[in-house]
Amino acid sequence: MKAFGTTRYHPARADKGYTDRLLTIDLSRHAISIEEIPEEMKRRLVGGRGYCLQLVFDGTTAETRFDSPENVLALAGGPFCGETAFVGTGKFIAGTISPLTDSFCDSNVGGHFFPLVKLSGFDAIAVTGRSDRNVMVLIDGDSGEVSLREAPSRHGSLLDADEQLEAWKGEGQARNVAILNTGKGAGTTRFGCLNSIYYDPKRGRARAKQAGRGGTGTVMRAKGLWGIVVRCNRSKSLANLPADTDRLRKAGMRLRSVIREVDPKAMRMARQGTTSLIDMMNAGYILPIHNYQYNQSEETPKISGDVFEHRYFNQGVPDGCFPGCNLACTKGCDAHVLGSGPQAGRTVAVDGPEYETAAAVTNLGIFDPDYIMDYAWYCDEYGVDTISAGVTMAFLFEAYEQGFLIAEDTGGLALRWGEQGDVSALLHAMCEGRGFGAVAGRGIRYLKEWVAERAAERTGQDAGDIFEELSKFGMECKGLEFSMYGTKESLAQQGGYGFALKGPQHDEAWLIALDQIRNEMPTFEQKARALNWFPLFRTWFNLAGLCKLPWIDVRHPEAQFTEIPARNMPTAEYYVELVNATLGTEKAFDDLLFESEVAYTLHKLINLRQGFGTREEDAIPLRAMAPVYMNEFQSRKAYYEKYLLESAGMEIEGKSDAEKLAMLQAYRRLQYEKLCDAVYEEKGWDQDGIPRKSTLMRLGFHEPRYLAIIDEARERVSRHAEVRKAESKLAN
Ligand code: SF4
Repeated sequence: MKAFGTTRYHPARADKGYTDRLLTIDLSRHAISIEEIPEEMKRRLVGGRGYCLQLVFDGTTAETRFDSPENVLALAGGPFCGETAFVGTGKFIAGTISPLTDSFCDSNVGGHFFPLVKLSGFDAIAVTGRSDRNVMVLIDGDSGEVSLREAPSRHGSLLDADEQLEAWKGEGQARNVAILNTGKGAGTTRFGCLNSIYYDPKRGRARAKQAGRGGTGTVMRAKGLWGIVVRCNRSKSLANLPADTDRLRKAGMRLRSVIREVDPKAMRMARQGTTSLIDMMNAGYILPIHNYQYNQSEETPKISGDVFEHRYFNQGVPDGCFPGCNLACTKGCDAHVLGSGPQAGRTVAVDGPEYETAAAVTNLGIFDPDYIMDYAWYCDEYGVDTISAGVTMAFLFEAYEQGFLIAEDTGGLALRWGEQGDVSALLHAMCEGRGFGAVAGRGIRYLKEWVAERAAERTGQDAGDIFEELSKFGMECKGLEFSMYGTKESLAQQGGYGFALKGPQHDEAWLIALDQIRNEMPTFEQKARALNWFPLFRTWFNLAGLCKLPWIDVRHPEAQFTEIPARNMPTAEYYVELVNATLGTEKAFDDLLFESEVAYTLHKLINLRQGFGTREEDAIPLRAMAPVYMNEFQSRKAYYEKYLLESAGMEIEGKSDAEKLAMLQAYRRLQYEKLCDAVYEEKGWDQDGIPRKSTLMRLGFHEPRYLAIIDEARERVSRHAEVRKAESKLAN
């Protein structure tokens, strides 16, 4: 491919976890620049998500949308990225102004891409501008060159990923090369993902991990960027250069031995990947079915983790997404024959499926493991998020079931639960941008209005009333589709989704298992406290660019003897050791939480600057809190009656089912509002969900540009309150 802009540089060597270099690619000017990362940014924001937040905050304004030229697609690893003596170190973060939420959204992804970027001398990449032609970037850490080139004529595709890696690896070199790109569907939908493609010598083939959430791939497409290729054959021992290698190795070995001891007796992720969650979620009434209407099915054994383990995953292969991780959950199938879609009959390699992908398919009423493999592969090939694609379709299926949407609206597509042909027809139409599919690919927030207007025109009903009804089961918050946990029975996870700054994704607060399955936070106060500390610690993993699974999914045997077992402090202490051994510091666990709080608050400030982020945007659909319709209530009638009596303390004698359902909904709504009050207090925010000035001061946000954001947000809230007051006067 012809290069038309090349910059030569001396690859910086990492020292105590950092290269301190930022690579900026301005696609409007086709210009490449390399600069030092300010010490202050490193001290306050650590790396990973923290760097992405600062780059996006500084590079964008309140008016920036996903396709604005100034939007920044930020990519950053962390100080431990590429360290093979510890687990979970191949991860990096992609952050940007999202096409779904109009605010900052980030997604973490593993593989070899960022470790190679770091070896090539960079801690972060900022892609800005918009190219007038389709281009790609090549980072050559061997020759010390970054170049912009004409892009390949085809969209990124997994079908030729092996050939692509071979072509880019450099003559006579090993496959120390990785690609970050996306597929066709990222340009036709708002939920495009990024594929992080690398060569796995153990399986002898290309593999792909996804930065799935928030539309990062759609932003890449909007920028006219085909993808980024990195190659580097420098010794991997140069990736990190920790201050104290022995101390680091010891902490790494201790964590690895806990994983070795616990995982085979608990989650079995090294054998089943995250499909091991399927049975657990089904047993705990959490697995989403028919757009989260139901949360358990007798059909689930057909798609259990055991089925994936034995039918698809080749167990001769340890499957870590980066060397050093013995949790090794990156399972896959080397030869799956597609049974559906335009490539039916073709044998492909499938990476995954993850639990979320399988649950996106059960949410459409399908319990066929072969179809789940197909769905996983097509979504990755198209470059779309398996979660948003599945939840958007589930919303449309329910709207169709209820008659809000008819065949005339869908261009003749029928949308019936459990029908693979219906799911395939809509999925491929979305990802190829055809007919109704082009509308469907806009995501639920857009579709609620679109469906309401169509239904109003047809029926003469008020569009606002229809919108309200659709909002009860349109599973989005802040514009992002919910991830795959049914939360009706877990107040903690309702908050975990509602307060998540990027929208309802479980990487911020995955409390469902701790609350609903393990019952480790039975009181209201415990849940409210957990909704403060848990997101902060989860955020820290994203700052560090580390995988969280070895902390959250592998409970240290000693944790049960600690004050709050859910914190898994014995394992958390290994991470503190990792920090100090790498950086040469003596930080404590609370120091890490403070760093997280700084980054977390910067995200909150971006949301507020973009015109939302206050209490009203933390509202979640009724379906996330309670049964919406009678069929849901009656499917667990005895359970709900007991709940109303014993947990809610309500008198139900002589009440009809309709009255009981209404009581349940009212109670759950009230509990959620009380939770908002309590959690905002824990976080140092006011009752409108805006950080108090004292909170900003404590966290070092002294600059007027930060303080102005909270002042403007308060004015906005008061204006809205005035409008509501005037409207209610008029109505009366
Ligand atoms: S636990 Fe799984 S996702 Fe995390 S680093 Fe290890 S292999 Fe990768």
